[in-house]
Amino acid sequence: MERKRKNKKQVYMIRRLLALLILILLIAVIVSLFKKLGTAIAKPKIEDHNVSTYIDKDNENLSKNERNAIRILENSTVENINKEIAFASYEKAAELEDLSKYRLEKMKLNSMGKGAKQAYLKKQVFLTFDDGPSSKSTEAILDILKEEDVKATFFVVGKNALNFPDVLKRVYDEGHTVAIHTYSHDYKNIYSSPEALEADINKAAESLKSVLGENFSTNLYRFPGGSWRKNKEAFVEKVESMGYIYFDWNVLNGDAEGANPSVDYLVNKFDSTRKGYNVILSLMHDTNAKTNTVSSLRQIIRDLKDEGFEFKSLGEV
Ligand SMILES: [Zn+2]
Repeated sequence: MERKRKNKKQVYMIRRLLALLILILLIAVIVSLFKKLGTAIAKPKIEDHNVSTYIDKDNENLSKNERNAIRILENSTVENINKEIAFASYEKAAELEDLSKYRLEKMKLNSMGKGAKQAYLKKQVFLTFDDGPSSKSTEAILDILKEEDVKATFFVVGKNALNFPDVLKRVYDEGHTVAIHTYSHDYKNIYSSPEALEADINKAAESLKSVLGENFSTNLYRFPGGSWRKNKEAFVEKVESMGYIYFDWNVLNGDAEGANPSVDYLVNKFDSTRKGYNVILSLMHDTNAKTNTVSSLRQIIRDLKDEGFEFKSLGEV
C-alpha cells in the first residue's frame, strides 16, 4: 500500500516537472519570436545610438541593427560618405547625409566637456587652421604637416580662396579637409541677420567650388569668432537648416591674442589648454602675420605624438 502511494507520488512529480519544462520552453520560443519580429521591423536609426566612441560593438545588449550600423560607421569616413552622396539616389543620399552628420556630431560631442568622460576616449587630435589660404603661411604649414605625416582641417575664407587658388588646391590635393569659415570675414555684415550669414556662406561655398571643381562640397562650418555670441540661436538655426555642422574648438595656441605672439607663448598656451582632453579640436590661424604659428607647429605636433595622440582631419571622422 505504502509503495503504491509512493509510486503514484513520483509519477505525479515527474508530470509536474515535465509540464513546467514545456511551459519554460514555450515562453522562450515566444520571447525569441518577438525579439526577431522586433529587429525585422525596426530600421536602424542612426540618431538613436549612444553617442560615444567608447561604445562596445560586441556588447550583448545592442541589437543586431545597432551593431551593423556601428560597423558601417567604423568602415567609412565623412569624406568618402560625402563623395558617395554625389552619385547616390535621392533616398540613399538622405540616408548617407544622416550618417555623415551622425559621425561629425559624435566627434563634436566627444570634444566637449572635460572630466571622467575624456579618459575613456581614444587620444585624437584635430588640428584646424582658420582664415587661409594665405600667400606664405599656408605653404609653410603644409610643408610641416607633410613632413610630420599629419592631416588637418582648413576653415577657409572664400575671398582668400579666390586670391590664392593654387594654394587652396595644394591643401586639398595633399588630403587635408577644406571647410567653410566665411566669404568676407566681415562680422558687421555677416552677423547683421541670419539671411546675411546665409548669403555669406553660400558665396564661400561657390568660391570653393570655382577653385576645387563643381563636385566639391562640404558640410563643415566654423562661425567667425566662434558660435559663442549673444542671440546666437537664430544664426545656429540658419546654419543647421542649410545642412552644415558647425565646429568651435576646445584647445587653442592663442595666436589671436596680439599681432604675433612668441613661439614660447603659443606652445605653452596650447599645452595648458589641452590638459584634460583626450579629444583635441584645436584652433590656430593661417595668415601671413602669424609667422610664429608656423614656427611653433612642429614642436606642438611632436609633443602630441610623444603622448600617443593620433592626428586626424574632420573629413577622416
Ligand atoms: Zn576667422
